[in-house]
Amino acid sequence: MEALDQHTIVFTGLKDGVHDFDFVLGDDFFAATGVEEYRGGRVKAHVTLDKSTHLLVTNIHVDGEVDMLCDHCNGPMRQPVKGEQRQIFKLTEESETDDDELVSVDPNASTINLTHYLFECISLHLPIRHVHPPGQCDPEVDQALAKIQVEHEPVPDPRWDALKGLQNKTT
Ligand SMILES: [Zn+2]
Repeated sequence: MEALDQHTIVFTGLKDGVHDFDFVLGDDFFAATGVEEYRGGRVKAHVTLDKSTHLLVTNIHVDGEVDMLCDHCNGPMRQPVKGEQRQIFKLTEESETDDDELVSVDPNASTINLTHYLFECISLHLPIRHVHPPGQCDPEVDQALAKIQVEHEPVPDPRWDALKGLQNKTT
């Protein structure tokens, strides 16, 4: 997703050491992701940034919920999401991009932007399947689905039973 201004950190003015940043990712953030599945959300992101001469080590923690549709009943639901991710920015003219965790940053740069990493942290920690807690699905859809399942239940073939009876007799 595109970088959002509010996630830009100006690191040139920061002293070496650990700094804390907090972001609130709301409906506007989820709309900006362009992911249709994300219908909104409320996620708090806490970022610690450890600055040294050539490295910016960030730890991103996210905690909140994303509005999605239930995979079972297709009704709206709030999917909790919680997790963390480490991202290291290295101030170097060489572009070493072998490591996912390590990103090269131009040594003349003064800012880094975290939008992409916040997005990544949330998407990586969302479960692939998201359903309502037991008993909280749309009851109408639940009933309709249960009916379909019953109708498609394979009818036991009586010949099998007959065969089984025969086998039991011979052994
Ligand atoms: Zn549901």
